[in-house]
Amino acid sequence: MTFWEKIKQSLRNLMAGRHGVDQLSLVLVWVGLGLYVLAALLNLGILSLISMALYAVTIFRMFSRNLEKRTAENRRYLAYQNKVQTNVRQARTRFKNRKQYRYFRCPNCKAWLRLPRGAGVVTVTCGRCKNSFTQKG
Ligand SMILES: [Zn+2]
Repeated sequence: MTFWEKIKQSLRNLMAGRHGVDQLSLVLVWVGLGLYVLAALLNLGILSLISMALYAVTIFRMFSRNLEKRTAENRRYLAYQNKVQTNVRQARTRFKNRKQYRYFRCPNCKAWLRLPRGAGVVTVTCGRCKNSFTQKG
């Protein structure tokens, strides 16, 4: 076995049965790095403390043997990330189409609805909750 093969093998043995790196770990590392840079630029010690705490959490999660709990945490993070990405994408679409459509929320369920601009005052039925109300297009 060469030197590098020995290193690889011992790393594999060390990480066997442990959670390792996931998407949440990567985000924690990047946020930690961002806070560390911000702490240096603004000369705020508290930010570098928070950044160190994030690194400690990341290292703890990587070496954790409680795979079930760590996987659940990562799944919750991914669901949150997906929600944020969807909101951003929809907001971009609303902004892009703002001249053709008037966007508004259903007063009952808060779903986003739209009417072509210049449609006048019409009765709208929400596709999600079937609530009817009048709206100016
Ligand atoms: Zn509705």
